[in-house]
Amino acid sequence: MEPVRAVKGMNDVLPAESVQWQRVEAAFRRTAALYGFREVRTPLVEATRLFVRAVGEGTDIVDKEMYSFKHHDEELTLRPEGTAGAARAYVEHKVHALEPVTRWYYLGPMFRAEKPQRGRYRQFSQAGAEVFGDPGPGCDAEMIDMLVTFLKSIGVPDIEVLVNSIGSGETRARYRELLRAHLEGKVVSEDSQRRLEQNPLRILDSKDPRDQAACEGAPSILDALGDEDRKHFDDFRRLLDTLGVAYRVEPKLVRGLDYYTRTLFEIKGAKQKLGAGDTLLGGGRYDAMVEELGGPSVPALGFAAGIDRLLIAGEPSGAEPAVDAFIAPLGDVAVGHALALARELRTRGVAVEADTRGGSLKSLLRRANALGARLVLILGEGELARGVVALKDLAGHAQEEVPRDRAAAIAADRLAASGAVRKEEP
Ligand code: AMP
Repeated sequence: MEPVRAVKGMNDVLPAESVQWQRVEAAFRRTAALYGFREVRTPLVEATRLFVRAVGEGTDIVDKEMYSFKHHDEELTLRPEGTAGAARAYVEHKVHALEPVTRWYYLGPMFRAEKPQRGRYRQFSQAGAEVFGDPGPGCDAEMIDMLVTFLKSIGVPDIEVLVNSIGSGETRARYRELLRAHLEGKVVSEDSQRRLEQNPLRILDSKDPRDQAACEGAPSILDALGDEDRKHFDDFRRLLDTLGVAYRVEPKLVRGLDYYTRTLFEIKGAKQKLGAGDTLLGGGRYDAMVEELGGPSVPALGFAAGIDRLLIAGEPSGAEPAVDAFIAPLGDVAVGHALALARELRTRGVAVEADTRGGSLKSLLRRANALGARLVLILGEGELARGVVALKDLAGHAQEEVPRDRAAAIAADRLAASGAVRKEEP
């Protein structure tokens, strides 16, 4: 039979790698908690119209990349990003009435039918956060500070923060006309001919060389900012300076999604490892989205980081042993004793594998070594008869006999003394 394979662009994460995932996810949760964010978990499937409304028609996500399907009469979509679902939940549960400011974070898989390549997949994971209810630039600056702290904590080198402001609706309407006038008569890509009508700002973001040439010398959106927008952007930058966060203003940064207002940012890093796809995360303000989704007028700010890319960008941690201790029963009678001893050790926080396959002591020791176990507890017929366990230290190569009824306590103490016990997850 032809073997069944994983869907293209959707990857398995086997245990050797999932250790790295857990490390990055734990670092993210820890940082988010330190900044007062709490976890929200929204469904993987939402009504298609949520994304059409929140992300916007004319965006790559909505036009080309959504996994949408019809189930009975419902038009549904596998979530391509996390902000729309979070904002939907915020409105649906009337969270604005419960608290003036809401800080949520999320972690989990997203789905986009993109062309798979290194760092770009069809199922990928994002870690993101949203702040609802705070219009001030302090909130924007602190989010960037949090992200830089997080990226440093996982060892991402060459962190580069890019910021921009695309102002509010009025600024953009004014700027759209300036940009259209600049692009008039210039050659742009087929996609951008369409964008010229719908959303010319996105042409600035295009990777197509024709579009990039056409945008050469285009007016800067920063020159079109209204007074309030300009003050917000200046204050934001001043606060980044106060916090000592290095950044670069990039007036061409507009990002793919339609819902942004004012602040936009992207953080790149580890260029050597990621090459052109070195954008680790992006975000910004979307002060109009909550109202657009039927809620009250509540300002909001958020970002999403691609965990798949963070794993490539960060410093991998060393391999963790699979278990601390290994139990080697020799002969059928010893198996029951081995399982009971394993259970005792686990209640003491020791990770254990008890071998129940049978086999020679030599093969069992080989397995213990492969698992990275520090101690092996051997239960042979002789040990059983004498009421003892042979305790073998694989690092120190010493072996001794200990009483069966104290074996778990002694082994746990040895492991604790050598620092080789399971660490509590944060
Ligand atoms: P976006 O939601 O498009 O603003 O993307 C935010 C971040 O998610 C990007 O900077 C990437 O790190 C990550 N990302 C977006 N799309 C993909 C994808 N198809 N595969 C892997 N990571 C992605």
